[in-house]
Amino acid sequence: MPCISVTNKRIYLSVPHMGGQELDFIREAFETNWLSSVGPHLDGFEQEMAARLGHGVHALAVSSGTAALHLVLRHIGVTRGDRVACSTLTFAGSAFPILYQGATPVFLDAETQSANLDPAIVREYLRDAATRGELPKALIAVHLCGQHADIDAIAAACDEYGVVLVEDAAESLGATYKGRETATTAPYSILSFNGNKIITTTGGGMVIAKDPAAIATMRKWSQQSREPAVEYVHAELGHNYRMSNVLAGIGRGQLRVLDERVRQRRRVAERYEQAFADVPGIALQGEAPWGTNSRWLTVAYLDRDAHGRTPLDVIQALEQVNIEARPMWRPMHTQPIFADAPRVGGAVAEDLYARGICLPSSSSLTEAEQDRVTDVVRSCLLRAAPARA
Ligand SMILES: *Cc1c(COP(=O)(O)O)cnc(C)c1O
Repeated sequence: MPCISVTNKRIYLSVPHMGGQELDFIREAFETNWLSSVGPHLDGFEQEMAARLGHGVHALAVSSGTAALHLVLRHIGVTRGDRVACSTLTFAGSAFPILYQGATPVFLDAETQSANLDPAIVREYLRDAATRGELPKALIAVHLCGQHADIDAIAAACDEYGVVLVEDAAESLGATYKGRETATTAPYSILSFNGNKIITTTGGGMVIAKDPAAIATMRKWSQQSREPAVEYVHAELGHNYRMSNVLAGIGRGQLRVLDERVRQRRRVAERYEQAFADVPGIALQGEAPWGTNSRWLTVAYLDRDAHGRTPLDVIQALEQVNIEARPMWRPMHTQPIFADAPRVGGAVAEDLYARGICLPSSSSLTEAEQDRVTDVVRSCLLRAAPARA
């Protein structure tokens, strides 16, 4: 009978990594019978996250990052016929909530330093949109793969044209911008605790906002908009988006190891950097000068001219030895569902997508596992390299 070799155990892109205290919090929820959408872990998780982020923010724990963004867009008043600008280089969860509200997404291009929204394009787009009377109601700035966007310049442009800035910090928890925590540099931010993120509640998300009244309104909406009455009275539309107290317990445990997770993911990136230092035609996404990169995912860019290899070649070579890797996010303006959406630029995002590969980046990745990854990548690129004279 064949047995799976231990050396061939599958390596995933990014897996959950419990800290140890999560089970104690879950047990406490069971012992006290707080097993639903209210309870001390929900309050605790929200307060502890808000305290961790600082800058007077408030938090609302919900069922996903996508749900969090939906609540935010609704709170801003985004509705049918409105436009909402969004990074094109991102995951669809950044853009779907625009459609939930019946609005039109406008996709904006990236810059290469951080793979995030290009402030120059934001400024130019808003100036032109203002002239045409087509300003968006909101702008969603995504902080991709653990690196904060250059948000000051983007915020200044939004302020000038009265556009509400929203930050999608689903991938950047633990990163900083000019010394401050991510998810505190806009009136509204969202986090995700999906299983592949830097910390997880198995599935979940959070709204972060400066205004406590905004949080209170979204809290009500997230619980089916029940009016304060003995019977069920609903004066407005509701959603069933609240996080469970059990999952919030997992979140409290995870939040206690967030700094350690950032250190571990940054160490993974560092080891990739070292392993590829002598390989031509591969370079990691750098760390932008304006903030620390949490390295949620290590992204490497390939230069095909140096070795003839595409990201897909490397992904297939890794898959052959049971290692998961994947291309950089495919830009939203190239997605079939957004084929009709207006966009500004897009060539930079398409180029980053064409050259980018996301490498296994789990905080639990061992050095031996990482060596398996780097061996394959090195041999794939070096074997193909043109012979030197
Ligand atoms: C994961 C993710 C989301 C969505 O979060 P979910 O919790 O999976 O709904 C949104 N935006 C970005 C950039 C993400 O990576």
